[in-house]
Amino acid sequence: MQMLEKAPAKINLSLDVLYKRNDGFHEVEMVMTTVDLADRIELTPLKQNVIKVESENRFVPNDERNLAYRAAKLLKDHYGVKKGVRIFIEKNIPVAAGLAGGSSDAAAVLRGLNRLWELNRTTDELAELGAQIGSDVSFCVYGGTAHATGRGEKVEALPAPPPCWVVLAKPTIGVSTQTVYQNLDLQEAAHPNTEAMIQALKDGDFKSICGNVGNTLEGVTMNLHEEVGQIKDQMRQGGADAVLMSGSGPTVFALVEQDARAQRIYNSLKGFCEEVYIVRMLGYRE
Ligand code: ATP
Repeated sequence: MQMLEKAPAKINLSLDVLYKRNDGFHEVEMVMTTVDLADRIELTPLKQNVIKVESENRFVPNDERNLAYRAAKLLKDHYGVKKGVRIFIEKNIPVAAGLAGGSSDAAAVLRGLNRLWELNRTTDELAELGAQIGSDVSFCVYGGTAHATGRGEKVEALPAPPPCWVVLAKPTIGVSTQTVYQNLDLQEAAHPNTEAMIQALKDGDFKSICGNVGNTLEGVTMNLHEEVGQIKDQMRQGGADAVLMSGSGPTVFALVEQDARAQRIYNSLKGFCEEVYIVRMLGYRE
């Protein structure tokens, strides 16, 4: 029997970095939502007690560095599972892009193997376990729209944003999250109003959501890579209702209510960026 699981990308409607903790992690506060750009995870039982990871994307590691591998290993170790699995990742989410592709793959493996191996664990249990793999994995286990605090592993559901188009554009540069944090000056950086974003979602107020998007890391990545600012300008010129970098970047997204404008922004970026997508927000947990 084969198990299929979708692993959707996320965008940050807001991302605030509060302070550096004694354990070296940064305390963050984020509002995240999943979009319908997704990897497809295929889980096939193996006779031998091994984990195999395969992908046709050359940027995706096929060993224990892969977060999907780590998710399977964690379940095996934690619940004493003596079974093998082949994990095939059809990679559709750009890699190292600020869209949590790796974390979402890991979350999909947790959900899928929970069914395949009949572990009967609750989503909350899987999310708690997922935090051991990476800060964004807990959110990705749930999907939908949420407020995440701590390192990102404390997740509370929020109402879905009103429907709109999301145009995603990733410049052809790689951004290391570590470098971005090393260059971050918390006094200098902009801090979004997370409370206002949460209220806007509760009110279903699209205008206020657009008025409150913000990302503390955006200025840092923009200083390192001028392409990020150029894409933002182009999206604004195309009539986007809101424009922001996701995560540590370099992907930039535009929220756009009008179909024609979304299409225009998409077309204008196609010549400039290799990876451009026009998607919808998934909104609620599936
Ligand atoms: P985040 O938004 O959580 O910071 P990201 O979207 O910036 O994540 P990923 O696409 O998850 O970044 O990949 C970051 C690095 O992790 C890659 O360079 C890759 O080497 C490694 N990696 C491990 N597992 C995966 C995976 N399943 N898919 C993609 N990259 C992975």
